[in-house]
Amino acid sequence: MNSEHEISEGEALDEWGDCHPHELRHEIIELMRQPTVQNVIRTVTQRMSKAKTAKVGETIECPSCGKGTVKTTYHKVFCSNYKTHGKRNCKDRYHNFIREHCNT
Ligand SMILES: [Zn+2]
Repeated sequence: MNSEHEISEGEALDEWGDCHPHELRHEIIELMRQPTVQNVIRTVTQRMSKAKTAKVGETIECPSCGKGTVKTTYHKVFCSNYKTHGKRNCKDRYHNFIREHCNT
């Protein structure tokens, strides 16, 4: 008897599903998670200052790639440099990135 009513209610919910406030909020959050240049700059500089203040023997996040690496010497902050990895290393990549995007 009321099965007809139930179906129409389900259909209405289906249509509503596309613009459900929760889904919309989720989409916006995902959008904000997209790495913009500004976000990347903030992330790498934050990692950089953390790595700089860490003590020798502590595990730091490489400012360039975020990989965990042990700080073996006082001035070490990157997981790789020219000596260990040649042209494609995190140290040069970081400095090139900063030079390109920041006027410091
Ligand atoms: Zn790295």
